[in-house]
Amino acid sequence: MHKVVIIGSGPAGLTAAIYAARANLEPIVLEGGFLPSGDLMTPGGQLMITSEVENFPGFPEGVTGPELVERCRQQAQRFGSKHLDAVCEDVDFSGFPLKLQVEGEWMEAATVIIATGANARWLGLESETQYQNRGVSACATCDGAFFKDQELIVVGGGDSAMEEAVFLTRYASKVTLVHRRDEFRASKIMAERAINHPKITVEWNREVAEVLGDGKRVTGVRLASTTGEPDKELACGGVFVAIGHTPNTKVFEGHLDLRSDGYLEVQGMTGTRAKGVFVAGDCVDSRYRQAITAAGMGCMAALDAEKLLEGYEADGLLGD
Ligand code: NAP
Repeated sequence: MHKVVIIGSGPAGLTAAIYAARANLEPIVLEGGFLPSGDLMTPGGQLMITSEVENFPGFPEGVTGPELVERCRQQAQRFGSKHLDAVCEDVDFSGFPLKLQVEGEWMEAATVIIATGANARWLGLESETQYQNRGVSACATCDGAFFKDQELIVVGGGDSAMEEAVFLTRYASKVTLVHRRDEFRASKIMAERAINHPKITVEWNREVAEVLGDGKRVTGVRLASTTGEPDKELACGGVFVAIGHTPNTKVFEGHLDLRSDGYLEVQGMTGTRAKGVFVAGDCVDSRYRQAITAAGMGCMAALDAEKLLEGYEADGLLGD
């Protein structure tokens, strides 16, 4: 039986791993991959598709998302955390020990820290699916370089959309932000950076009704109006969707309490209704969703697991 199994390897999971490993709890980290639902739980989490992280304390010059993840992973491994290239396929949290199915085998754990993060959301249009990886993307960092000197669309009005739009100006000749309302949800500083950028224009009160293409690649979009104006078409070589996220929590349905929006319910600071199961990061936090807050929750979850394990140890539940 493992003392701690951590599901997820973003800032929450890796910070939990650093704390648990330093406490000699020999944590196992299930790094991620394709889930039984078909969704991808990206190893390293959303930082892997983040270009520049400018707000993580300790990096005054900024750091790329993948580098920050790699540094955290190395820090955890330095203290003995073991990382598996795997996902959790099923769970049984009905008693002690807790059980997790990994690559078809059941693994036992005294405590589990869930840090499964969240995934980018799509518009849900048939034409969007048709042109995915053929001009439609949810990751400017991954795909932006393929669109040199082209005109691009970014959908959304939050910080992600602003970040993607500004990032894409490195390659694109022009970027049009399409937002369904007449004001951005994004923080003022990021919205201003986008609005004031000479290569960025904004289509307010508009939604993408259809992604247009020639059968092979995206050639444009048809925009519907949210204020009763007629539809209009815009030519573009790529469409970047940046409209928020869905938490990776499907596997816990029926085993833990989930909110109506799919995020895990937390009891106290990091607990759940299942004793020994703790939660951290974007799978539970729909409000702050920052690398630093996820890392903080990962730390808290590991400390809470450690405390519980001390009790288990005293009760002789952990064996030799
Ligand atoms: P978000 O804040 O939830 O914004 C999602 C945006 O997409 C909203 O503007 C929303 O419109 C729009 N939207 C949602 N569904 C849509 C649909 N079906 N069709 C059209 N538009 C749709 O998500 P986010 O931008 O991904 O940001 C998430 C969190 O991460 C935030 O807390 C943000 O501050 C943080 N973040 C921070 C940074 C940074 O600091 N560097 C970078 C990225 C993200 P409405 O506004 O009308 O609801």
